[in-house]
Amino acid sequence: MAHIVVLGAGLGGSIMAYELADEISKSDKITVISKDPKYHFVPSNPWVAVGWRDRK
Ligand SMILES: Cc1cc2nc3c(=O)[nH]c(=O)nc-3n(C[C@H](O)[C@H](O)[C@H](O)COP(=O)(O)OP(=O)(O)OC[C@H]3O[C@@H](n4cnc5c(N)ncnc54)[C@H](O)[C@@H]3O)c2cc1C
Repeated sequence: MAHIVVLGAGLGGSIMAYELADEISKSDKITVISKDPKYHFVPSNPWVAVGWRDRK
């Protein structure tokens, strides 16, 4: 059994975790660690600033 820890849950970490999930066996485990309680899609942040999207 492997326990894989992904540090950072931004674009890179989130994509890595989903890609790994397809490769591991059922007994393996993935933990994704982030310092934020919410996921931020960074490229969309300017859209919030100019009112094209709301924060949620
Ligand atoms: C305004 C803006 C617009 C952009 N537009 C585009 C675009 O249109 N197309 C494109 O391809 N790219 C775009 N980018 C670039 C893209 O967003 C970045 O290249 C990408 O987010 C980098 O991914 P990352 O996983 O390396 O970092 P991030 O997505 O920043 O993720 C890093 C993660 O690590 C976490 N973290 C940091 N320190 C700690 C810690 N000590 N402990 C735990 N967690 C921690 C953070 O909370 C964050 O969740 C844009 C960037 C910006 C700023």
